[in-house]
Amino acid sequence: MDTQTKYLLGENDIPRFWYNINADSPAKPSPVFNPITREPITPDFLSVLFPMGLIEQEISTERYIEIPEEVREIYKLWRPTPLIRARRLEKALGTPAHIYFKYEGVSPSGSHKSNSAVAQAFYNKIAGTKAMTTETGAGQWGSALAMACQFFNMDLEVYMVRVSYDQKPYRRIIMETYGAQVFASPTDRTDYGRKLLAENPNNAGSLGIAISEAVEVAAKSNGTKKYGLGSVLHHVLIHQSVIGEEALKQMDMADEYPDVVIGCVGGGTNFSGLAFPFLRENLVHGRHTRLLAVEPDAAPSLTQGVYAYDYGDTAGTAPIVKMYTLGHDFIPPSIHAGGLRYHGMSPTLSALYDAKLVDAIAVPQTRVFEAAVLFARNEGILPAPESSHAILAAIDEALEAKKTGEKKVILFNLSGHGHFDLTAYEKYLSGTLEDFKYDAQTEAGIKLHLPQMTESIDA
Ligand SMILES: *Cc1c(COP(=O)(O)O)cnc(C)c1O
Repeated sequence: MDTQTKYLLGENDIPRFWYNINADSPAKPSPVFNPITREPITPDFLSVLFPMGLIEQEISTERYIEIPEEVREIYKLWRPTPLIRARRLEKALGTPAHIYFKYEGVSPSGSHKSNSAVAQAFYNKIAGTKAMTTETGAGQWGSALAMACQFFNMDLEVYMVRVSYDQKPYRRIIMETYGAQVFASPTDRTDYGRKLLAENPNNAGSLGIAISEAVEVAAKSNGTKKYGLGSVLHHVLIHQSVIGEEALKQMDMADEYPDVVIGCVGGGTNFSGLAFPFLRENLVHGRHTRLLAVEPDAAPSLTQGVYAYDYGDTAGTAPIVKMYTLGHDFIPPSIHAGGLRYHGMSPTLSALYDAKLVDAIAVPQTRVFEAAVLFARNEGILPAPESSHAILAAIDEALEAKKTGEKKVILFNLSGHGHFDLTAYEKYLSGTLEDFKYDAQTEAGIKLHLPQMTESIDA
């Protein structure tokens, strides 16, 4: 009887190319607009914030982009990541389904974010950037970029969402250990932060606000500082494709192919990183894998947002993009999956969801933690609250298969570990964790808050 549990690749199997879904996607990305002039954006505008290597990837339609050797060398510290069959969880559920997960929590910073952090730091370094600025929600992106900037000898300023800064002091200490400077956002270091603090000194912050601050600092630095974003943007999705490329090989080793591929979505990059290589197989090779994005009930941009032009940040200084959004001024409640508290969704993923090539569901926080604890007690890994959204969906799929008797093959992304989320676990275990329901808005209600663009009215 086959009892294999871990499917491991060697360093030579680390992908040599990132995959770009825009080469194969029938849902072409919409143009991006300058937030001030409302004109289509130019590489010049973007080059205030990003190095040319990343801007080229942002707009690229090349199918495969070569991974620089310097980046592959660093990937060797944790890649290839394992694919694990959750046999004990399957048994606990009594399901005929086979459950596999790709484990990105083995990276030094504990999540998939390192895959893009190293790439972004590399392209900044070769462009002569001296320092980077960024935002972080739960702290995973900040830790990943702090490590990467240290590897490439660059300074880093991190604007950390206030509520996470307070709930997760250990993440701040990790970033500082890697050599970064960390500030609780909103801060008094930017015009936007000072304005918000004057209105409400207890502002809990949000990813959108922290992005505005990090962007403001880079934009006003006369070119000495560049900005790095850990999610949402197309070049970040491209970097994360190493997850799915490895998983394809590993499913092959297991001699199985997934019927459904699942990932949690904040800005959409870990899900897309795993799912897009499988979407390529659907589009190019006639496979029929269902791709399922899982978002929190508290910030349900795909399932309850509108597909329209909106600002990427709260202040309205980031580019205007077409995406599923709850409105840039929507501040999600303080759920513990800090990495999923964003008002919008990757424009690339939004276009694919609109074209019905990807499915989405929203789930409540308490059920997410119930799934996380069941997973930890069977598989031993203590998952990040974000990743646990994917675990819950995988468990629900497996229980559905139990009802129908289907030997379904389920693959999900375990995007990170939850070793710094113990406050949330403690709340769950003591029965004090709450659910936050999104206060549903009508489409017209959300659109009142969006920048007035002719196309968004037509859309
Ligand atoms: C940041 C983060 C997420 C959400 O971001 P995506 O871009 O949607 O992947 C999910 N899981 C973990 C562990 C994260 O750190």
